[in-house]
Amino acid sequence: MTSFGCEYKRRRWYVRYVGESNGAGPVPPALPVPLCRCGVQAEVKQSRHPKTAGRAFYVCKWTFGPIPAAPCDFFQWIDGPDKYDPRIRLFQYHSIELKPYHQFRRWVPPSPNPPRMTEEEKQEAACRRVRDPPMCKCGVSAKLMRPNLGDPPKFTPFFRCSLKTHDGWPLCDFNEYIYGPMAMWPTEEQVREFESGKAPWPCVSSPMIDASVVYWQHKM
Ligand SMILES: [Zn+2]
Ligand SMILES: [Zn+2]
Repeated sequence: MTSFGCEYKRRRWYVRYVGESNGAGPVPPALPVPLCRCGVQAEVKQSRHPKTAGRAFYVCKWTFGPIPAAPCDFFQWIDGPDKYDPRIRLFQYHSIELKPYHQFRRWVPPSPNPPRMTEEEKQEAACRRVRDPPMCKCGVSAKLMRPNLGDPPKFTPFFRCSLKTHDGWPLCDFNEYIYGPMAMWPTEEQVREFESGKAPWPCVSSPMIDASVVYWQHKM
């Protein structure tokens, strides 16, 4: 009878306390990726709409495809409104980029006043950008300009539009240092123009807010 009592106590102890040893316990799988009406797994996009910015949603993987093969109108929120981040609407937008769910990484805007890049970070960014040059506003790879080769160099190399007007000027005003733009954030003036409606928001395409209904149905 003594051994029974001992067993009983041990069991109680396991039930009551969740400790570090439970860290490796089972985790239920995430909700399965839904199929769109075409019968394939939907893909993920992050909203930049002024009213839903930051939230992620599923759409038909062919929604933005180059082939007009009639994508379906499938739409489903992944996130609740708690993921809304107004800052995201101020940033440049990949209008057609979609990711499979397992590759999706939420895009988070940098802090408003990021610390200055260290020399090391500048070096690293410069190497990366020389291998993979930024696109100018015309949508072509920008050209790296090295204004001087002095030692130490007097000017920082910079990227600019690689297309030229008929009289030899860059076609667009794209201009970034080799290690990247100095400030990621739009100017105060630009923000005021968005807010007052004078300038359009960088992106006001889908999704519609009414579609949040779908999200709640999905949760149930
Ligand atoms: Zn579809
Ligand atoms: Zn250009």
